[in-house]
Amino acid sequence: MFFNDLRKGFTLTFKYLFKKPVTENYPYEKIEMPERARWLHRFYPDKCIMCKLCENICPPKCIAVGIGKNPEGKRELRGYDIKIDRCIFCGLCVEVCPTKAITMTDVHEFADSNRNKFHFDMEQLSHTGEEEQKKVG
Ligand code: SF4
Ligand code: SF4
Repeated sequence: MFFNDLRKGFTLTFKYLFKKPVTENYPYEKIEMPERARWLHRFYPDKCIMCKLCENICPPKCIAVGIGKNPEGKRELRGYDIKIDRCIFCGLCVEVCPTKAITMTDVHEFADSNRNKFHFDMEQLSHTGEEEQKKVG
């Protein structure tokens, strides 16, 4: 009985001994993200029509679209903030946006011990992924 169990155990070990490991050596080796990865948002201010659909659909209410009026009395975009520590990465904001002003990227390395770093403003969201592109070359 004991040797039978031992034999089964060793058979399984040898079966996987020469196979390619499934574990990733992250962070020393970068993980390739799937094509449809939904990570940090990228915002395109010039495409935004200030409809607030993204703000209203967001389940944890982590998006804030700032709208004001210019001297001519026309609406203008003053800010676009996402509290990413509350985001559940559902992608609803992207789906609902009629002009594709908000998208999601494969930028996923933004861990930090400072909670304030998870509040992304319009300026930051407008440049998501650019640093990573520079590193790639
Ligand atoms: S991905 Fe979902 S939770 Fe995150 S900002 Fe968009 S709607 Fe909100
Ligand atoms: S849904 Fe799109 S166009 Fe409307 S406020 Fe949000 S980002 Fe701007």
